[in-house]
Amino acid sequence: MSEERLQKVLAAAGIGSRRACEGLITSGRVTVDDHVVSELGAKVDPERADIRVDGRPIAAEHFRYIMLHKPAGYLSNPDPRAGYPDWQELVKVPERLYAVGRLDVDSEGLLLLTNDGGLANRLTHPRYEHPKTYLVQVEGFLDPRKLRRMRHGVMLDDGPTAPAQVELLHEPPPEAEQGRKKAEEQRRRRAGLEAGAAESGPAGGKASPPAGQARRPRPSSWLKVTLREGRKRQLRRMVSLLGHPALRVIRIGLGPLTLAELRPGKWRHLSAGEVRALRALVPADAAGRRSATDIDRPDQTGPRMARKIRPLPSTIAIDGPAASGKSTIGGRLAKELNYLYFDTGVMYRAITCVALAQGVPISDEDAVGQLAEEVNLDVFSPTVDDGRDVTVLADGEDITPELRRPEVDRAVSPVSAYRRVREALTLQQRRIGQAGRVVMVGRDIGTVVLPGADLKIYLDASLRVRAHRRYLECSARGQQTTEDEVAEQLRRRDQFDSSRQHAPLSVAPDAILVDSTSLTIEQVMEQMRALLKRWGERKK
Ligand code: C5P
Repeated sequence: MSEERLQKVLAAAGIGSRRACEGLITSGRVTVDDHVVSELGAKVDPERADIRVDGRPIAAEHFRYIMLHKPAGYLSNPDPRAGYPDWQELVKVPERLYAVGRLDVDSEGLLLLTNDGGLANRLTHPRYEHPKTYLVQVEGFLDPRKLRRMRHGVMLDDGPTAPAQVELLHEPPPEAEQGRKKAEEQRRRRAGLEAGAAESGPAGGKASPPAGQARRPRPSSWLKVTLREGRKRQLRRMVSLLGHPALRVIRIGLGPLTLAELRPGKWRHLSAGEVRALRALVPADAAGRRSATDIDRPDQTGPRMARKIRPLPSTIAIDGPAASGKSTIGGRLAKELNYLYFDTGVMYRAITCVALAQGVPISDEDAVGQLAEEVNLDVFSPTVDDGRDVTVLADGEDITPELRRPEVDRAVSPVSAYRRVREALTLQQRRIGQAGRVVMVGRDIGTVVLPGADLKIYLDASLRVRAHRRYLECSARGQQTTEDEVAEQLRRRDQFDSSRQHAPLSVAPDAILVDSTSLTIEQVMEQMRALLKRWGERKK
């Protein structure tokens, strides 16, 4: 084993953050082979040296890290009432261990067990979006469109899913044979329970085939899916929504860990390298930061606000005229709070794009209204790194590059004035907003979409300043225009948006007005932070 900096070795042993360990060293509390080391920069071989803090060997901080291949039919969180065995039947060790995260009873594969509470907490905290990889057997075959939707994300009851990596496997993976019997047994048991429930309960539930009559095996296929979030039964819900229920789910990867050759029901200790890799994934001194990706970003504004413990508004509505800076400010605010950022304007733009592409006359209210009711819109965080701040799919097609075309700018206000269009989109927006932890921007968020929003902001700026900002954006996109033209278009759009019959742009009575005419983005952000602080203090 090679030599490493003492503070790094201490931190890796779970003594504290790198910074805290430096403090222990400089205050003379650390000894190496009986010598006090109080200077920073000393290097040691952690496998040979006798390293102590306050006289206690750091080896005494003995944590266990175990990887189990959980078979189907075992609980990851013991529950005596559930009627299932749990992983403790398979892993017998003297220490009291906990499973890191959950793996459904009918799912199989990699389950991490440890008594290192700090690491377990960080690994399961939604701020750290480390990848988890699964093999999923689904009923039938997902066509390319459905695969694309799965990759970009799908809309579940609790909001849209983040982009995922999805690969269609052309033959069953080797893991498919392992644990097959157990999984089938588990499935039969579950089907039996469901049938029982259907018989005894009110109408509903799928009828099971009569006893003795085996269900015909249905065609199925295998996917390899990598997710960066872990909502309850998320993967199963995603494939079900696409019409291909999961038959088996096997977790084969968790951050840097892979299941590899470990057989179902067997377990092993993690190697020192694996433990180090896990710790590097969720460093203790980065607690409070937003996500694994953020840790790499030298964004000083990011964690500052999120780290403070004070109540925060869960739904934040930002309305205002075109080019008032709603998306820039809304996006930054959402990032600082680790909230979902949702720009409702892109939905109206998306309907306009589809109408233009399909040759539906913009003046035909019925036809545009029908389109809005029929088109399936999905709005996500960017799924492609091309400078976009959102990804929008219309019926599974990525139409993001079309959204800001000048034709769309011209037609979007009339489209958004139609009652049927507004009703169709407001419903979707409300569902997303009501899930909370969201910054939603638009024209009618505080007045119509989320009238009960916790914090409402109306962002404004003079027409001249807004036109100048928008002109710079258009020029950067290579659009030929002049500042006067842009100003005229914004003026027309605002007038249209403010005077329409349905959900006109107006300041909600309880909204806070922020005028950014003579402010920089950072100054507006300072105002936002102050508003949040005030909100939190009033709630305390
Ligand atoms: O914000 P953005 O300029 O992208 O919005 C495009 C258009 O969509 C607006 O001019 C407005 O007509 C419409 N819109 C709306 N209600 C919202 C958001 C946008 O009517 N909540």
